Amino acid sequence: MTVLHNVRILDPDSPTSSAAPVDVEFSDTITAIRPAAGPDPSSAATVLPGLIDTHVHLKSRDALLMGFPTESGVTGPDDAERFLDWRTDNGVDLIKIIIEDPDATETPALDIPTLQAIVDGARKRGLLTVAHAVTTASFDRGLDAGVDVLTHIPFDRPLSEATISRIVESGTLVSPTLVMMRAIADTRLGEHADAAMELAIGNVSALLDGGATIVAGTDANETPFAPVPHGPSLHSELGYLVQAGMTGAEAIRAATSAAADAFGLSDRGRIVEGARTDLIVVDGDPLTDLSVVSSPAEVVVGGRRLV
Ligand SMILES: [Zn+2]
Repeated sequence: MTVLHNVRILDPDSPTSSAAPVDVEFSDTITAIRPAAGPDPSSAATVLPGLIDTHVHLKSRDALLMGFPTESGVTGPDDAERFLDWRTDNGVDLIKIIIEDPDATETPALDIPTLQAIVDGARKRGLLTVAHAVTTASFDRGLDAGVDVLTHIPFDRPLSEATISRIVESGTLVSPTLVMMRAIADTRLGEHADAAMELAIGNVSALLDGGATIVAGTDANETPFAPVPHGPSLHSELGYLVQAGMTGAEAIRAATSAAADAFGLSDRGRIVEGARTDLIVVDGDPLTDLSVVSSPAEVVVGGRRLV
C-alpha cells in the first residue's frame, strides 16, 4: 500500500474533491481517501485523474496500425453482418467507421443504408460506433446513420444550427482531435491552414454553446503523412479546447470522467475509492494555468509511480 500525503484532489466530478488536503492510499486501485494526517495547506500539491486520450493509433500493436485489410471494406448493407462478425471475432471493443463525403473525395463513400446496417448491427452486439468524419456533410451522414461518436471536426464550413441540434438531441459525442486537424491543415492547406483551424475551433465553440458533449482525443499516430506525438499532443488538445471556450475544469473533465463515460471505462477517470490508480500530481493550480498539467511532479499508472 502506498500513500500520497497532503494533496488536494482536483476532480471536477468527485464528491471528494475539496480544498482541504487529503491523504490518498492506493495499490493498483485507490483504497482510501481521508483527511491529511498532518495537513499543511500551504505545501499541498494537486492531484487529478490520469488523462484519457479517446483517439490514438498505436505503433506497437500491429492490429491497431493504420491500414485497411480487404476484410475491412463493406460492400453494402448485406455485407455489414460479415464485417461485424469479423470484428467481433477479433475481440474489438467498438466499431470504427470511415464516413467519407461523396462530394469531397474520390474514395467511394459508404451509402446511408450501409452505414445504418453497420450501426444497427454494432448496437445489437453492444458495441459503440465511432465515425471518422471531417466535413460538415459527413457529420450529417454520421447523424443519419445514428453513430455514437463523431471524431474529428469539420473545417470546410461552419456546422449548421440544425446539425448542432441533432448532435445535442441525439446525445452524439464529439472527439474533435483539433491537434490532428492542425496537422492535416498544415500538410494540405498551405496558406489556408490558419483560416481552416479558425473554422474548426469555431465549430467546437458552437457545439459547446449548444450543449454538446466534447471529449478529448488527438488521433496520435506515427505515420509520415500527419504525425501527431503520443502524450504531448493531448496537452495541446486541452489547450485548443480552452481556446474553443471550455474552462480548465471542463477541459480536464473532457480527458477524464467524460472520456471514461463515453467509452464505458467505469474503473477510471475519477478519483474515488475503488477506481484504478491513474493519477497526476502537479504543483500549481491547473484551473488557473492548465499548462502545469503537462509538467507533472508525479505520475501514477495503475498504481505504479512513474515519475
Ligand atoms: Zn485516427
